[in-house]
Amino acid sequence: MTKITETLAGALRNEAYSDQYWSPIENAPREVIDGVVEHLFQDQMRFLWESSSALRNHWQAANVKPEDIKSIADITRLPFVTKTMIRDSQKEHPPYGLMLVDGLTQADIVRLAMTSGTTGKPVLIPFRKQDYELWMQGVVRSLWSGGVRRGDVVHAAFGFTPFVGLFGAHDASERLINATVVPGGSWDSNMRTNTLPALGVNVLMGTPTYLLRLGRLAVEEGHDLKSWGIKTLFVTGEVGPASSPATGARLRDLWHCDVNEFSGAQEQNYFAWSCSHGGYHWNEDMVYAEVLDPETKEPVAEGMPGELVVTDLRQRTHPLVRFPTGDLVGGFETRACGCGRTLKHFKGFIGRIDDVAKIRGVSVAQSAIEHAIRSHSAASDHYDIEYLTDSYGLDQVKVRVEPKEPLFAEARGKFILELRDILKRQVQISIDVEVVEEGTLPRFELKSKRVRDNRQR
Ligand SMILES: [Zn+2]
Repeated sequence: MTKITETLAGALRNEAYSDQYWSPIENAPREVIDGVVEHLFQDQMRFLWESSSALRNHWQAANVKPEDIKSIADITRLPFVTKTMIRDSQKEHPPYGLMLVDGLTQADIVRLAMTSGTTGKPVLIPFRKQDYELWMQGVVRSLWSGGVRRGDVVHAAFGFTPFVGLFGAHDASERLINATVVPGGSWDSNMRTNTLPALGVNVLMGTPTYLLRLGRLAVEEGHDLKSWGIKTLFVTGEVGPASSPATGARLRDLWHCDVNEFSGAQEQNYFAWSCSHGGYHWNEDMVYAEVLDPETKEPVAEGMPGELVVTDLRQRTHPLVRFPTGDLVGGFETRACGCGRTLKHFKGFIGRIDDVAKIRGVSVAQSAIEHAIRSHSAASDHYDIEYLTDSYGLDQVKVRVEPKEPLFAEARGKFILELRDILKRQVQISIDVEVVEEGTLPRFELKSKRVRDNRQR
């Protein structure tokens, strides 16, 4: 066997490859990883020309023939598969539309995921058994890297909704690592603060927003979080430590432990996860990433920011080819990491494309504002961002912030001035700051929605 076929054959596993790495793909030589990606892509294309009439029609309508796509370098010749296209196909051919390749039926599906529907009708995302298992493979590398082992007690703090982003990690902890998992779907925050320490939970997962909230509540209730013995947090689903280091610092200070992050797209798989050396590694053998200029849709130079467009390399229930995620990301780097992994570095999320606004010529992103606000020690975790048009017809940005403690007169004025100054330095634009009373801004259980665009256009 060549090194490529050998690595490919051993990449998905039911047990760890070594103490340090779950899969041998993690530290394979660069040319082997590239070879694996090429092999998987060509295989996937052969499969889809045969088995997905929806994609075949889509490609033929764009005048693309099988022989036009000889290697992954030709991928830019293929048209995008957009969320609107998926939604329309599910309306036309309910319930799954193009999210099920030809020949599969309900009997093939073991798990259903669903988008939250914040940008329209929810999209249904079915998985065959082997493809749900692929979700666990996508995240177990992160869990192993973050130190989850047999004997640990893991709790994923979410409502057991069809949000696969925490389900996959919950299931991988139990079924691949054989850690103890504690479900708690309908538990409220009080129930969690009372129960988690009693059960010896030492690995906690959730969105950054929710884990900040849960930790603050526990402290208010008089808990000493140090005594809980949590060794690591895993966060997902929102702008995280890789994109807003101040959020990572808050989580670490609050919970007295490491913070790891994994991210993905529900339509596909987990694609990136942090290591203890500051890397954010991409699952190159699962999801192929392109970074495109949001306006021209042309690839940007390596390492530059742009819109993330992803392609499934392994999944066979509903492989998506060139799916625009709607996320603006920092780009990719191929460099050595202190952890020894050779998987590419992902430079994190800047914000949702819809939430990034051009204000007086400057791109304003949620991650930059969040990082600036949370850099100020007097600011609580709660904030919101509004884009609006002033009486002169100029676009403005306003943030509303709750302070940690009530602030009066001078202290309040000083807080506003300091925050304006930090925002101006970090976001490169003057931003209006309003301080509101505690409890004014909305609280979120899972993913937060903090950006409102009220500009007149
Ligand atoms: Zn690393």
